[in-house]
Amino acid sequence: MPIYNAPLEDMRFILNDVFKVEDFWKSTEDLSFLDIATADAILEEMAKFSKNVLLPINRSGDEEGARIEDGQVYTPKGFKEAFKQYAEGGWMSLAGDPEYGGQGMPKMLTMMSEEMLMATNQSFTLYPNLTNGACLAINAYGSDEQKAMYLPRFYSGEWAGTMCLTEPHAGTDLGIIRTKAVPNDDGSYAISGTKIFITGGDHDLTDNIVHLVLAKTPDAPAGTRGISMFIVPKFMHDDEGNVGERNGAGPGSIEHKMGIKASATCVMNFDNAKGWLIGPENKGLNAMFVMMNYERLTMGLQGLGGSETAYQNAAAYALDRLQGRASSGVTSPEKEADPILHHPDVRRMLLNAKSHNEAARCFAVYVAKFLDTAKFSSDEAAVKEAHDRVALLTPVAKGFLTDMALDACIDSQQVFGGHGYVREWGMEQLVRDTRIAQIYEGTNGIQALDLVGRKIVKNGGAFLTPYLEEIKTFAGGMSAENAFMKDALLDAVSTIEDTTNQLMALVKDNIDEINASCVDYMHAFGLMSYAYMFAMMVEAAQEQSGDFYSAKPKLAEFFVKRRLPELKARAAMALAGADTLMDMSDEYFAQAL
Ligand SMILES: Cc1cc2nc3c(=O)[nH]c(=O)nc-3n(C[C@H](O)[C@H](O)[C@H](O)COP(=O)(O)OP(=O)(O)OC[C@H]3O[C@@H](n4cnc5c(N)ncnc54)[C@H](O)[C@@H]3O)c2cc1C
Repeated sequence: MPIYNAPLEDMRFILNDVFKVEDFWKSTEDLSFLDIATADAILEEMAKFSKNVLLPINRSGDEEGARIEDGQVYTPKGFKEAFKQYAEGGWMSLAGDPEYGGQGMPKMLTMMSEEMLMATNQSFTLYPNLTNGACLAINAYGSDEQKAMYLPRFYSGEWAGTMCLTEPHAGTDLGIIRTKAVPNDDGSYAISGTKIFITGGDHDLTDNIVHLVLAKTPDAPAGTRGISMFIVPKFMHDDEGNVGERNGAGPGSIEHKMGIKASATCVMNFDNAKGWLIGPENKGLNAMFVMMNYERLTMGLQGLGGSETAYQNAAAYALDRLQGRASSGVTSPEKEADPILHHPDVRRMLLNAKSHNEAARCFAVYVAKFLDTAKFSSDEAAVKEAHDRVALLTPVAKGFLTDMALDACIDSQQVFGGHGYVREWGMEQLVRDTRIAQIYEGTNGIQALDLVGRKIVKNGGAFLTPYLEEIKTFAGGMSAENAFMKDALLDAVSTIEDTTNQLMALVKDNIDEINASCVDYMHAFGLMSYAYMFAMMVEAAQEQSGDFYSAKPKLAEFFVKRRLPELKARAAMALAGADTLMDMSDEYFAQAL
């Protein structure tokens, strides 16, 4: 079984030293109750829960998988008990709205607990996570009655939520969904259609499951402007929330997948199921985006959780495994070979993973700070800036972080040689589980398209410019000791500025340039953002002493010399032009058949 020790020291460093969270919390009315000691206690409890309860059922859950029998899905052994413990521990309500029984904790803190959950059991974590997303959508768009009915039951863990968008013919392009919602006389709707790939579409963890379903009313406009969102419970319930007969919504089958096998991915059949509109008719995508934006940062954390566990295990293995002699001189003469940690190439793989993990965690907290500002601040200008920054960075937090995380998992697996490929050490499960984060919640290609198309080109850089200015101002104030980091950061910003300007000019002549350049641009942008995170970390570390802190500039130097150079290559690739892609005829690809 893989080991896992929650990186609490790193988490505290980022929260307290880099972002000085307590100052931020005290500056807002709704978070002024929170202090570092309380936050620390929460992190420590989650560190124990994830390690002691979730990690032990991660491997068995993968082997057993979720199963369906007579229209009911069952989770693997131990999941039900773990979920009960999770709910009783109050974890379901951590970020919830206090008006409905939630604890009102900020994202900067809850994201750390999500990372630990994902690090120890990605399949398990998806069940509560989808429910958290449903809470946000209902809280933002539901009526007072809907909020009062569903939020307390989600927060207590009695009921769970799902998000039902995808159909067999409609994944990325939700404008062409076919699920119908026909009004009934009593104000409800009859929902009919098939949804596929629905995470937690059915399971045995809760008394009821509440599906948030995208569907079209009879006279809805074509495309995405005609999508509405409906609440469709698995079991009907009365006004007191007593569960009754089964609704016409249930799983037809579950998918057999590459990874996250204990997470039930269901084909859901809606056959005149009773549903209720949530939010205005035809505005369902707005509500769904509330849910999806939250999920997108969480998917970044899924990647980070996977790569943190992968790194920890690879580091332990590299210290232990004896193969060959270190080229710079024997390190363990009493043994028949030296630990593989002494081979520079093994260190390269480990530090690739480690540098991603530290930068990704810092970046996720940076994005979470803007999410919290948007939610809790009373300063209108700060709220507007926070919304813009979240819009700009959410696709990066999902797309770039999960691309980098899979690379980190694979590098860590490679450290094990053949032992990483066999099941025994758990590395192959980490690679299989983490892979999905690049695909769902909008593929990473679509995240990149969102970044370049909607968040940069469409508004002429209105969201981007303040971000780059902030980075330049920060770099300008950096200490002389960190000149290497400052120079690298300013160079990265200048490359992104040039690339963006050139790209905007290319797009004027050929709209395909957005789609053709976006993934490479997102990677260049992500690397610049990681450089900014390292700059913040080395500045914060400089104020402290001890081995933990003195390692920070060393890791930053590794990043600058061995990862950041890719930024310029990615920038050049982003500007390579769409022609090399579009000049190939369709027949060229058909020749493969
Ligand atoms: C395990 C799992 C769990 C899931 N959970 C849920 C869930 O809970 N709820 C839910 O509703 N869905 C869920 N999904 C569905 C998931 O969100 C979709 O699979 C994903 O959004 C992609 O849709 P698709 O599979 O239809 O691929 P397609 O949309 O067919 O895309 C195929 C390829 O084409 C690319 N592409 C498509 N359009 C464009 C474009 N305009 N420009 C450039 N490239 C493009 C894509 O990036 C992709 O590489 C889940 C999927 C899986 C596998």
